[in-house]
Amino acid sequence: EKITIAIDGYSSTGKSTLAKQLAKALGYVYVDSGAMYRAVTLFALRNGWFGNVEEDIPALIQALPEVELEFRYNDSLGFSEIFLNGENVEKQIRTLEVSGYVSPVSAIPEVRHKLVAIQQKMGENKGVVMDGRDIGTVVFPNAELKLFMTASPEIRAQRRYKELLERGEEVRFEDVLANVRERDYLDSHREISPLKKAEDAVEFDNGDMGLEEQFERIHDYSLR
Ligand code: C5P
Repeated sequence: EKITIAIDGYSSTGKSTLAKQLAKALGYVYVDSGAMYRAVTLFALRNGWFGNVEEDIPALIQALPEVELEFRYNDSLGFSEIFLNGENVEKQIRTLEVSGYVSPVSAIPEVRHKLVAIQQKMGENKGVVMDGRDIGTVVFPNAELKLFMTASPEIRAQRRYKELLERGEEVRFEDVLANVRERDYLDSHREISPLKKAEDAVEFDNGDMGLEEQFERIHDYSLR
């Protein structure tokens, strides 16, 4: 019997690494909901919005029907990549620039309504591992397994910093740490679907837990 697995938590807690592993082991589909918010943000940035966030929100809301998102499975990578209006934007959505604008974009109710509807459709037949901020609380409140991941901002920023450097982005650690802290604050204080642990979620502080150990503990949960 297939189940739905919801993984929420602060940014860079290693949610996606874990979710991918779990999906692979269980033969489930992995969905990165953050990639969808990032793709909408990239769309907005490309249209030259966000000189002024307040003023540009109406323009983005009006253009939302033009935003078409799709995940396509990449065999050699072993996971799906996100396409924005037919273009693979998997790399472009991970920059610090997009990270800097994604929280205000994801606080727009119209954006959330659109993306949550797509996410619920993808989970219709279960057998899905989805990670994000509101998966256990809003997208799949009835998910059979809910995880909530935490770790200190410094540990998370260090991870994100390494990733960005490996990708060849020139960034400073202080800026990455500032972005992680700012997103945590904005994501957990916004009016709509704020980031919070679902009552029935299992909390994981993976700050000093290796990947192997995390995976084993959670895999055990998913088989219970
Ligand atoms: O998971 P990731 O860090 O890539 O998500 C980027 C941003 O997208 C988050 O900081 C948050 O603002 C937003 N997000 C959200 N709800 C989700 C997933 C992501 O608001 N389910």
